[in-house]
Amino acid sequence: MGGFTLAGGQGFFMRGWGATVDQWVTELEVVVPDGSLIRANASENADVFWAARGSGQGFFGVVTKFWPNGKLFNEVLTLAIEQNEKTPKYGTEVAVCTFFPEKFNPTIESDEISEPSSLMMSITAAAYVDSISEAETLLSAFDYVPDGLAEVVAGPAPVILKSWKEVFQEQDMLVPYGNGEIWHIDSILNDPSIPLPEMIEAIKPSQTQLPTRQSVGVIYIGDTYPDVGKMAFSLPQQYYISTFTCTKNPTKIPALRNWMKNVYREAEKVACEA
Ligand SMILES: Cc1cc2nc3c(=O)[nH]c(=O)nc-3n(C[C@H](O)[C@H](O)[C@H](O)COP(=O)(O)OP(=O)(O)OC[C@H]3O[C@@H](n4cnc5c(N)ncnc54)[C@H](O)[C@@H]3O)c2cc1C
Repeated sequence: MGGFTLAGGQGFFMRGWGATVDQWVTELEVVVPDGSLIRANASENADVFWAARGSGQGFFGVVTKFWPNGKLFNEVLTLAIEQNEKTPKYGTEVAVCTFFPEKFNPTIESDEISEPSSLMMSITAAAYVDSISEAETLLSAFDYVPDGLAEVVAGPAPVILKSWKEVFQEQDMLVPYGNGEIWHIDSILNDPSIPLPEMIEAIKPSQTQLPTRQSVGVIYIGDTYPDVGKMAFSLPQQYYISTFTCTKNPTKIPALRNWMKNVYREAEKVACEA
């Protein structure tokens, strides 16, 4: 796998799908000659990322991890956005989160992402109504799972009743505090004129390459377009795209800040007023 990928990775149907390193590899973890472990992608250590993808035996580092292109992220986020468009706006909320399942394991203390671990995505649709049957009707668009995703989608989960107390407890589980957690957050509002596939590619690193076990990506679908003629509050609030990183180790702060800066440099390309 290592040699194949570093050499470019040619194979069946390449003329349509492209070479492995071009289409499939989005990020690498590399031990470089001075012994340090770095991450390399299109915006961070871009020279190493360029060299690794094609120099084969001539590559000067050792690749210890590959990140694939994460097509599923595109498909699940597109599903959430499309089904949101079929959902009545009044009294409903939709948010998409990315996280590692170990995030919610209270027996794990470490910030490290356990190996192997698969990033998970959740689509949460909520309705503020008087009965379960009203909620089921309002949120029925989210019962749909396309054939192509049926194998990887655990839901749809049934609509259930929740008190405000439970809702706030769940928010606290997503971003817990009070036990030495150190959080950083960055976010953008997207430019609605940018086509969805382009927007998704630009925000993908911020949502899928989470740097620690407790970190979480959150996309809140705002669907609100204030009128600049009416008030200063005028940035389009279509999608609020944010990442919360967490560590309990203060020495990790510079690396986490750097990670955030890099992924949001990419995401800002599709931000409104960018
Ligand atoms: C019969 C045959 C058919 C082939 N067909 C194809 C084909 O269809 N498509 C194609 O793309 N290629 C093909 N190749 C070439 C193949 O991609 C290369 O031989 C490739 O290097 C094999 O990958 P490997 O993972 O087994 O590497 P290895 O043979 O294990 O290593 C190759 C080189 O890469 C280095 N290396 C390996 N892993 C890492 C790592 N993680 N970090 C840094 N350096 C590393 C090794 O040190 C070594 O120098 C073919 C080769 C043969 C012999």
